[in-house]
Amino acid sequence: MYDIIIIGGGIVGTSIARQLSRYQLRVALLEKENDVSMGASKANSAIVHGGYAESHDKLKGRLCYQGRKQFAQLDQELNFGFDPIGSLVIAFNEEQKKGLEDLYKNGKLNGLDDLSIIGHDDIMTLEPNINPDVQYALYCKGAGVCSPYEMTIALAENAVENGLDLYLQSEVTAIQKQEKHFVINTTENQCFSTRTIINAAGLHAGTISALAGDDSFSIAPRSGEYLVMVRGSGSLVNTVLFQMPTKMGKGILVTPTYHGNLLIGPDAINEEISDLDTHVERLWKIFHEAMLTTDQLNIKKFIRSFTGLRSVSSTDDFIIQESETVRGFINVAGIQSPGMTSSPAIADLVVDILRDMGIALTEKENFNPYRKPIIRRKDLIPASKAQAFVDLPFGQENRFVCRCEQVSEKTIRDAMNRGIKVTTIDGIKRRTRAGMGFCQGEFCRPRVAEVMSDVLGYDIDPSFDIEHSGINRVGKTDVVRYIEKKLKELDQTLPS
Ligand SMILES: Cc1cc2nc3c(=O)[nH]c(=O)nc-3n(C[C@H](O)[C@H](O)[C@H](O)COP(=O)(O)OP(=O)(O)OC[C@H]3O[C@@H](n4cnc5c(N)ncnc54)[C@H](O)[C@@H]3O)c2cc1C
Repeated sequence: MYDIIIIGGGIVGTSIARQLSRYQLRVALLEKENDVSMGASKANSAIVHGGYAESHDKLKGRLCYQGRKQFAQLDQELNFGFDPIGSLVIAFNEEQKKGLEDLYKNGKLNGLDDLSIIGHDDIMTLEPNINPDVQYALYCKGAGVCSPYEMTIALAENAVENGLDLYLQSEVTAIQKQEKHFVINTTENQCFSTRTIINAAGLHAGTISALAGDDSFSIAPRSGEYLVMVRGSGSLVNTVLFQMPTKMGKGILVTPTYHGNLLIGPDAINEEISDLDTHVERLWKIFHEAMLTTDQLNIKKFIRSFTGLRSVSSTDDFIIQESETVRGFINVAGIQSPGMTSSPAIADLVVDILRDMGIALTEKENFNPYRKPIIRRKDLIPASKAQAFVDLPFGQENRFVCRCEQVSEKTIRDAMNRGIKVTTIDGIKRRTRAGMGFCQGEFCRPRVAEVMSDVLGYDIDPSFDIEHSGINRVGKTDVVRYIEKKLKELDQTLPS
């Protein structure tokens, strides 16, 4: 019998799991996919948001800054990569400036102490490549970027290290409430008993809640597509650049990622069903809108598109509470943006709810808050020098398995030896960046499979890619050609 079972291994479920692993409790996490971070937590803007954009009337408004404040310490402990580069919401006229003032006031209500409205000259100093027509900006000094899947993996690894039982490929299909406990069934014919359930199932949180007997809310997907540019292109801008937010979201942003790519997106479309495909017309619209922020974007640097799905709840807010109809069942649902930023504060709130429910929370003496990094942010060595490392024989720990991102064999072996069984090439990609470079894995995929096969003791098929199954992403060449054609139609000059 578990004290607590968490359903869902995204950033929310793993943040809660890591927090609960501090206490003398039997805790398990059930995740339907073959790895953690397979939902929204791997496909988002990766911005550690300031906390001014969501209304103070909403839980998501009140929790965001509370979460953001914890990122520096969490990164010190878990080494997932966080950089507080600051963010700007830009305005081109007096009317839009009023919008910035509203955001500023809301930010103050949410407790922020690092907001200011700055003028044209200060903006140009911070961002020499920005559209020079920009007049004002809301500057949030402590906002930043992080690596969301690395963070989720780090939280999960640390929770496992501290006693969490993690079950992958365990999709919850039935929940029965008994007098004093729940019985949970999964697709793998596993059967679990637990006193308390925490529902952190993202897009499926409404279904999971209904399985337990509470159908008081529903969740709908809202998709957002992105363009990712090659490593190094992120240096075009220094901060996270937002345009004015809309009712559907925070608008199109242009930002460096933690590892130095340039990220452009997302749009926002309400979907009937979960659709992770990308669409060339949508990508063009995003690119075109981003050109208002800076006209220095270079489509030739494009390497990949992707889609993220927001979990929009019927209350349009986070739902974080014990169910009123099913006692012992806690919903952590509707966690759309800024859910990643809020995740540390969401975990704290869940701990408070558990305490209020009378669950004994006795701290462990041996809790270890630290987790070593798998990778650190790095500059690449010149290709001419790197080739000697690429050519080393299999088994040499310094051999570069991935040429573009210069990922060594040692790093891949380390990623596979951390308490979570990694069985896919994409799992290695998220942990090490092998396959995230310009060639997008063309070169390294068989080499990664070779190392994985050696560690696992069975063959990994390099062409098998669970992440791609069923997802249609527009190819690199098709995106570049289409956007070049559109730019020509607009009579834009392409940067060389
Ligand atoms: C386009 C987009 C941009 C965003 N940008 C930002 C941003 O810049 N900053 C920010 O702070 N936030 C951002 N967010 C929000 C953030 O990504 C989410 O709030 C966060 O990832 C939600 O985490 P989660 O754990 O609730 O959900 P998920 O990561 O989706 O995890 C839910 C997990 O539950 C599992 N699951 C589902 N059903 C079952 C079942 N039956 N049994 C077992 N497991 C199950 C899923 O497989 C999944 O792994 C963005 C989101 C999107 C989509």
